[in-house]
Amino acid sequence: DTLDEGTRQAVMRRQALLGPAYRLMYADPVAVVRGAGTKLYDGAGRDYLDAYNNVPAVGHAHPRVVDAIHRQLATLCTHTRYIQDGILAYADAILPTFEDHIAHVMFTCTGSEANDLALRIARHHTGRDGVIVTSEAYHGNSLATAGFSPSLGAKSPLGPWVRRVPTPDSYRLAPETLGSWLAAEVQKQVDDLERHGGGLAAFYADSLFSSDGIHADPAGFLAPVAEVVRRAGGLFVADEVQAGFGRSGDRFWGYQRHGVTPDIVTMGKPMGNGYPVAGLALAPRLVDRFGADLRYFNTFGGNTVAIAAAQATLDVIRDEGLQANAAAVGAMLRAGLRELATRFEGIGDVRGAGLYIGVEFVTDRRTKAPDSATALAVTNGLRQRRVLISATGFHANTLKIRPPLVFSRADADRLLSELEATLLDLPGGR
Ligand code: PMP
Repeated sequence: DTLDEGTRQAVMRRQALLGPAYRLMYADPVAVVRGAGTKLYDGAGRDYLDAYNNVPAVGHAHPRVVDAIHRQLATLCTHTRYIQDGILAYADAILPTFEDHIAHVMFTCTGSEANDLALRIARHHTGRDGVIVTSEAYHGNSLATAGFSPSLGAKSPLGPWVRRVPTPDSYRLAPETLGSWLAAEVQKQVDDLERHGGGLAAFYADSLFSSDGIHADPAGFLAPVAEVVRRAGGLFVADEVQAGFGRSGDRFWGYQRHGVTPDIVTMGKPMGNGYPVAGLALAPRLVDRFGADLRYFNTFGGNTVAIAAAQATLDVIRDEGLQANAAAVGAMLRAGLRELATRFEGIGDVRGAGLYIGVEFVTDRRTKAPDSATALAVTNGLRQRRVLISATGFHANTLKIRPPLVFSRADADRLLSELEATLLDLPGGR
């Protein structure tokens, strides 16, 4: 009811035209008309600091990516059934970022399609159908991937071949035993799948457990899990849609922080800086039979323009040293947030890796009881101060800070000072 008339009209029109399944962010939704670098702009020319969008990894409207797309679109845009140099050059550029056993790359348009294709390949390879994911995982919006995306909520049906393990909650569980604990949980679900006849085709993990509340540490905790999956004959799928392309700061791919060697790596979101391009990389032996028995074609996946966007994005990540920037600015931001936590009781935990940061609010640091209301008030309060973030986890009580990788120290300072002001504005100054 506090919305201005223009916004209220736009929200109603949107609901009338797009229907009820779409969600807007913030109590007072933002209308944007332009983006550049780490900023979004509204029609009045006001800037909003984008501390949330990981898709424009190299910055909104990066001129090199825009130019590459523009030039390619004016020259040729077609599918993967012709010989084209670009797709091979990109494969040559991306494959060395993985361990040696990963030697093929396949292209899709979305992360959902990549995870869906990974499941088809895993099932064809293993002859089994079971999938294990974490309790609040999100892996996509297709029928198959929504079926193993419990974060869609209790009313979104999971496949009967799906088993969940609890969130590896790095704030509440002992760090020394997090890996062995998760491995034992995965083993229980492997046993259950086997008892019910299916067996394990694939274990999927978002390497930063984004929708589970962001759990990055201790690095290495996935290693014992990968061992259990391997022994069960299932495939380890590293879902790098969130964690990949240098975001974690430490390594180019999030799973590499854990020292695991996945069978399949799926990727998307930042891959084309906003142009739809996604895909998967995998060990050739996994797709040998799939390739012979079936075939793969995706009309738009890996088209000439998508590849040009992906190549330009990868080049910029390297040329501008954005993985190192994620490490440096991420560390600075976490230090600043930890300093705020010394003054604001409601901040129970600050965590993450690189430029993927969680700030968890609790009503009581001793019991660690989740405080969803404060997280919601903070995201809305920051929005009023023109800083855009969101919240994640089962209780949505963890701030999700996930800016473009070009986020500067000045951007981090702006975020920290606006967050402090927002916290001071809350009733009781939590
Ligand atoms: N996996 C993860 C971890 C994701 O976060 C997402 C998107 N939020 C997807 C897969 C699906 O990607 P897309 O929306 O491109 O289909």
